[in-house]
Amino acid sequence: MKKLVMIGNGMAGVRTIEEILKLSTEQFDITIFGEEPHPNYNRIKLSNILQGDTHFEDIIINPLEWYQENKIQLYTGEAIVTIDAEGKRVISDQGREVEYDELIIATGSNSFILPIPGADKIGVTGFRDIKDCEMMIKSAGQYQKAVVIGGGLLGLEAARGLLNLGMKVEVVHLMPHLMERQLDPIASSLLKTELESQGMNFLMEKQTVEILGDERVTGLRFKDGSEVEADLVVMAIGIKSNIQVAKNSGIYVNRGIVVNDYMETSVPHVYAVGECAEHREIVYGLVAPLYEQGKILASHICGNETKPYEGSVTGTQLKVAGVDLFSAGEIFEDGTTKSIMVYNEYEGLYKRVLTRNNTIVGIVLYGDTKDSTRLYRMLTKKEDISGVSIFHTECTGEAGSNDVASMPNDELVCGCNGVTKGAIVEAIQTQGLTTLDQVSHCTNAGRSCGRCKPMVSQILAHTLGDQFDAAAAQKTSICGCTTVSREELVAEIKEKGLASVKEVMNVLDWNNTEGCTKCRPAINYYLGMIHMDEYKDDRDSRLVNEKMHANIQKDGTYSVVPRMYGGVTTAADLKKIAEVAEKYNVPLVKLTGGQRIGLFGVKKEDLPVMWEELDMPSGYAYGKTLRTVKTCVGAQFCRYGTQDSMALGIELEKKFERLDTPHKVKMGVSACPRNCSEAGIKDIGFVGIDGGWEIYVAGNGGVDLRAGDLLCTVKTEEDVMEMTGAYLQYYRETANYLERTSKWVERMGLDHVKEVLADEETRKALNERMDQTLNKYIEPWNEAIQNEEIKDKYYTRHNISVGSESK
Ligand SMILES: Cc1cc2nc3c(=O)[nH]c(=O)nc-3n(C[C@H](O)[C@H](O)[C@H](O)COP(=O)(O)OP(=O)(O)OC[C@H]3O[C@@H](n4cnc5c(N)ncnc54)[C@H](O)[C@@H]3O)c2cc1C
Ligand code: SF4
Repeated sequence: MKKLVMIGNGMAGVRTIEEILKLSTEQFDITIFGEEPHPNYNRIKLSNILQGDTHFEDIIINPLEWYQENKIQLYTGEAIVTIDAEGKRVISDQGREVEYDELIIATGSNSFILPIPGADKIGVTGFRDIKDCEMMIKSAGQYQKAVVIGGGLLGLEAARGLLNLGMKVEVVHLMPHLMERQLDPIASSLLKTELESQGMNFLMEKQTVEILGDERVTGLRFKDGSEVEADLVVMAIGIKSNIQVAKNSGIYVNRGIVVNDYMETSVPHVYAVGECAEHREIVYGLVAPLYEQGKILASHICGNETKPYEGSVTGTQLKVAGVDLFSAGEIFEDGTTKSIMVYNEYEGLYKRVLTRNNTIVGIVLYGDTKDSTRLYRMLTKKEDISGVSIFHTECTGEAGSNDVASMPNDELVCGCNGVTKGAIVEAIQTQGLTTLDQVSHCTNAGRSCGRCKPMVSQILAHTLGDQFDAAAAQKTSICGCTTVSREELVAEIKEKGLASVKEVMNVLDWNNTEGCTKCRPAINYYLGMIHMDEYKDDRDSRLVNEKMHANIQKDGTYSVVPRMYGGVTTAADLKKIAEVAEKYNVPLVKLTGGQRIGLFGVKKEDLPVMWEELDMPSGYAYGKTLRTVKTCVGAQFCRYGTQDSMALGIELEKKFERLDTPHKVKMGVSACPRNCSEAGIKDIGFVGIDGGWEIYVAGNGGVDLRAGDLLCTVKTEEDVMEMTGAYLQYYRETANYLERTSKWVERMGLDHVKEVLADEETRKALNERMDQTLNKYIEPWNEAIQNEEIKDKYYTRHNISVGSESK
């Protein structure tokens, strides 16, 4: 097998690998380096995250299991710093050297940060990755005033997000019109009016010359001497291709890494794809052309004959609620162009098509974009428009001219992924698809920005005719392997008495007999939750950390975190941990965020013997289960303590350890409202007060920061245990697999959860089912030590490894 290395684990690069795997799984031994600590995610949806429409875990495109299943060695959080083109090897910032036969550079771009004084102050960020998003969300929790520099696509999406996060937002723009490269002045002013009505304030024709403040930003100064206050500054003025590694290695670069029509760089066996690549003097910043490049590169690198990449015309849309706009091609008239225009100022509708020699060369639509796909097709195919009615809806906003029945088969439906109506219809007909999710899974349509989903739905309805079931089509199925939703799956397991993952897939007609990394762990969880006594866990269906009972790290080693109930340990246990760490040359011993001792960098084959020598229970620092119960020192030692937090923490951890839950569960116990264990941001937090305990639920200290809500106040430790058991069991029975308690409570409604748990009989029944479940669990480390078969299957060298599983 030839060795294929890819630098960059982003959207264009990984799509190229997907295309390669479609053509051949045998040709390459693939290694990917990604500087970010995440698997490939949908960067486009960062705007939706900021706007509160979706969550980080929902935008992962390729989960770690995908890499594992495709035998891809992934190094996350590791950047390549040198390409040795002569020696055909790359070297990472951690000193790792990997040889290649073929190398793909897919390093994307960085936000362009204005080179002005103060640009490095705390509170100044670009808008490019999860880290930037996290920073903005955190700032919104602490500060009031945000300034976004840049009134283009990214700037306006960031501004809308910051408004949603409760900040006061000013948008600073250098030019007299917003999105001036995509919109003409009329469309631009309609857009500005709409965004002002949503609460955005604009400072037009302002050039920022300095960022003010000491360590943290306090404001901006403009060239005209005026100033504006700011606690957060987002620079969204453009992107800069990430070309440094290529440049340092002698690969020819200009604005991007210069490539030919087959994405080959100036150095043999080195290719570039995505936002880092410059093709015919153009660097593209939208996924549609990048995916086209990826497809051609995949064919070429696999040795297949392929058409050359000849460049793309891109269409732009803005992902801001209440704004419907589309723009493509040329915007401004010159002596050779003629405009066809309709404008309904009253309704805020505007359409303009720029023509040259009887063909469309530019489109601007505002307020009604139903004509967009048809016009875009006419533009890209250079169709002759003589005698053709250009606007079907004539700015009335009435029924769609993109009527799917009259759409030709080669009309593009999903611009991002280049999927035509014909491809969707064929997939529906040949593969018996009935839901939007399935179409997306099979064709990629709707997998990126998601704007085409309504049209995909219409095509589904049109193709299926009488057999179309609107409710079923919209329903979110567990994954693309099935049309079955979570509720239906649970009901079917109960009704039909389905007893294994395989049986579920067979009986419920999964269209992929092996299932996938999304549905297999979910089915395994639901089966275990329903058949409390008799279900035998299907270990191979679990996510990688749970399968291994250890947390896989980004370099393929594991961590060992022994259980320390309530964060309390003994000198004897500490000695044991120290001896094992020394004996097995553990490179890092570290206190974890959950008050435990973690041994990091352990080889897979050393795991069972280390567990045996530690002779302590598994710490579950990795699973969808109770992780840790963090405690403060409490009344035993602290002069403020009103309750015994350590004793309660230990009791809780001992009772609920090893419980399978839809997602990880963390607890904290503080003995007074000073709350040293940070119980307010735990899934369940307990705060001691005079004469009892307050129970807080649905807190989250991670990516989606959320303060817990008060569920109730109880008097005794027995009450705490009873309420916690009932709450956890209700969560287990009603949450979607991989839904954190914070999201679950928001979905169900806190009042509803309170109401259910207020009923004593219900609490009793829930606790009975909880106890039944707890009775059957076994200690997994001990099981692995005792069982040779398990040891051989999971803890010998021959298994492949991937970077760390998402937290
Ligand atoms: C907020 C936002 C909204 C967007 N909205 C849209 C939209 O609506 N429609 C649309 O079409 N496009 C949109 N885009 C653009 C789209 O996301 C990009 O075009 C696409 O992600 C580019 O893919 P890429 O693989 O070239 O780069 P990226 O996705 O950026 O991936 C490059 C990866 O390489 C890594 N890397 C860089 N250097 C190294 C190194 N030396 N070693 C290892 N790894 C390295 C980076 O960390 C990064 O993870 C949006 C972008 C943003 C930020
Ligand atoms: S939470 Fe209260 S009791 Fe616990 S350690 Fe802090 S101050 Fe002391």
